[in-house]
Amino acid sequence: MTTYLQSENVSLRQQLESLLREARLNEGKMRRFDQLERQLIGAGCLTEFVRLLLTEYKLAFGVEFVTLVLVDPQYEATRILQAALDDDEIGSGLMLLPSPTMLEALYDQSPSPRLGPFNALRHQALFKSSCGAIASVALLPLSRQGELIGSLNFGSANPDRYVADYGTEFLERLAEIIAVCLQSALTQERLKMVGLTDGLTGVQNRRYFEHRLLEEVSLSRRHKHPLACMFLDIDKFKRINDIYGHQTGDEVLRSVAGVIASQLRMGDTISRYGGEEFVVLLPQASGHHALEIAERIRLTIAEQCLQAGSGEEINVTISIGLSMLASDESAADLNQLGVRLVSDADKALYQAKHGGRNRVICDAGLRLGVEQSMHGAGNVQLFVSGLCSRLQGLPEQAIGLLKQLAGRAHPSRSRAL
Ligand code: GH3
Ligand code: MG
Ligand code: MG
Repeated sequence: MTTYLQSENVSLRQQLESLLREARLNEGKMRRFDQLERQLIGAGCLTEFVRLLLTEYKLAFGVEFVTLVLVDPQYEATRILQAALDDDEIGSGLMLLPSPTMLEALYDQSPSPRLGPFNALRHQALFKSSCGAIASVALLPLSRQGELIGSLNFGSANPDRYVADYGTEFLERLAEIIAVCLQSALTQERLKMVGLTDGLTGVQNRRYFEHRLLEEVSLSRRHKHPLACMFLDIDKFKRINDIYGHQTGDEVLRSVAGVIASQLRMGDTISRYGGEEFVVLLPQASGHHALEIAERIRLTIAEQCLQAGSGEEINVTISIGLSMLASDESAADLNQLGVRLVSDADKALYQAKHGGRNRVICDAGLRLGVEQSMHGAGNVQLFVSGLCSRLQGLPEQAIGLLKQLAGRAHPSRSRAL
């Protein structure tokens, strides 16, 4: 009897110890979970949030593979996360899908966590190149208001780490928190975008420009690249409002912004500076290249035919001032350098207005650079372009004729002008 009681006692003690061990393990897990939850809630932007998910979870819970799939039909997250995709950790762990079809097939009708062995056919697309080493997976559907917005996927080399009949309360809670944080991070990004975008034309606003100017000046000094600035102002715009009404004026503004944007490259910046004024930054553009772009914008606007609500044709022209920071120009105060760049372009614009409008005028420093490069390269096209910019009040026909002549001298380049 005593022996029986003694052995029962030992067995109970062992059970108690095992329960205590499990409780301590769970307590540790909960502590790490709380910590991660706090980090996720405190993430300052979508990029930081995604980085935390892909790196911190691995560290906190010792999971070998973590990937995140986001449904992004408007390519909104794609645009926001574009730069971060170059980062190895994010680039290899994040997938952006234009539709939820793949996730709907994965989770069927019930979006609840899926635990079990790795199945190449079903799971390969979720883990990209890391598949070979994965033995078991836990897949967490992320949904908001009944819609699948993504999936967080854990892969382990241990086949017993994720088993189908394990409890999933912890993972369900994690998925809910992540989905809420994800939506909130996207909303914050949208608000930021709204705060930096001009509501009428859709291009960036002046606030964005001020911020970007400093960044571009600093980058151009660090890498010793030139930086061109273009100040553009619609000619006699008040008259367009007076004759055709404010709504047509708004249409003209949108169309002009569209033409300017269509002539720029990915890294260029276009902002609405104020009323009918736009400002453009062209990083790494030489003086003659900037002049060529400005001329192209001016001509496209002058040649395009807009229609007022009444059906009447509206002719719009634009004046442009150009300035430049040469690659070797330096200054201790980057802010001052940026202010000077914009103010030089503004002064050149003032000259363009006084010279009769519908023209491009280069700031003195840039003009010198363009002339040197024109002579050096013997580029007839650029010479004509520069000439047209500076000859006051030259009629369009005369400009066309000059360009035709230039085209004959350099047919391959005439198309680009
Ligand atoms: P200039 O050739 O000298 O630039 O003449 P301008 O008439 O273009 O210049 P001015 O500064 O006299 O007039 C600018 C006009 O732009 C006045 C203002 O009513 C109009 N404007 C400013 N913002 C908007 C806008 O958002 N929509 C519309 N429709 N008009 C605007
Ligand atoms: Mg104007
Ligand atoms: Mg103006």
